[in-house]
Amino acid sequence: VQIGAMQDAAGSDRPPNVVLFLRDLTSAERLETMRVDFVANASHELRTPLASLLGFIETLQGPARNDPAARERFLGIMREQALRMTRLIDDLLSLSRIELRAHVPPTTPVEVVPLVRQIVDSLNPLALERGVRVTLMAGEGPHRVLGDRDEILRLVENLVENAVKYGGGRVEVAVARLPGAEGRQAQIEVAVRDDGPGIAPEHVPRLTERFYRVDAASSRQQGGTGLGLALVKHILNRHRGRLAIESEPGQGATFRAAIPALPEEPAAARSRPSGG
Ligand code: ADP
Repeated sequence: VQIGAMQDAAGSDRPPNVVLFLRDLTSAERLETMRVDFVANASHELRTPLASLLGFIETLQGPARNDPAARERFLGIMREQALRMTRLIDDLLSLSRIELRAHVPPTTPVEVVPLVRQIVDSLNPLALERGVRVTLMAGEGPHRVLGDRDEILRLVENLVENAVKYGGGRVEVAVARLPGAEGRQAQIEVAVRDDGPGIAPEHVPRLTERFYRVDAASSRQQGGTGLGLALVKHILNRHRGRLAIESEPGQGATFRAAIPALPEEPAAARSRPSGG
């Protein structure tokens, strides 16, 4: 904590007007450091593909000018790098949009299972390409939350895509309604389990930090931006939800995202004719 004082210009006869200010320097400084780190990391992440693009442009203008085979190959790599920058900018924009809305909880009732199914279907081509089998199980519903459809899609997409990219040959996605206990609200949980190499315990608490990767080279090779789990965390915060990560190296990993369930009337009450 910083304590400071401001007073009138020296030499005045009046008793000085003193304003005392107290400031929590630690949290302000921490925020500022985080902001500076974030800008530095984002710039670095954008600069890397940009440097590669510039290098290939110069090669194409010079030594590879009359080499059609090299040209084709280099254009392919350049396209990849440009796509990487696009993904990064998309993720950065999504992150800042979600942060802007952080204090406005979503108000639309959303049934979670169809959204999860949509993501599992849309990731099927990637899974097939990698030889990964993705299965979806849904327990007894309803699985309704107050949510933002697009954000929930994004959340599930990041978790399932990570499991396909970093996991082994099987991914299980399970949606369950966890009953509330001792006055706590029931939760809708989406659990994504893979049988890959898993994650060493020292990395687990840091996975949701922006740009944190266990293996940066493998993440980049997979087209990762390092922002997926940061997005997941922010989406869950906005939905008053939470993320649990369980992993034992060599045994795969399970990511559980839970969002408070919309309170449901018992089936009997729902079917009773109204105004009796
Ligand atoms: P990325 O864009 O790199 O995938 P994420 O924020 O989604 O970024 O994930 C951060 C890091 O967490 C990844 O780079 C990867 O090292 C690790 N990770 C995420 N999911 C898994 C998983 N299912 N198994 C093993 N490691 C994972």
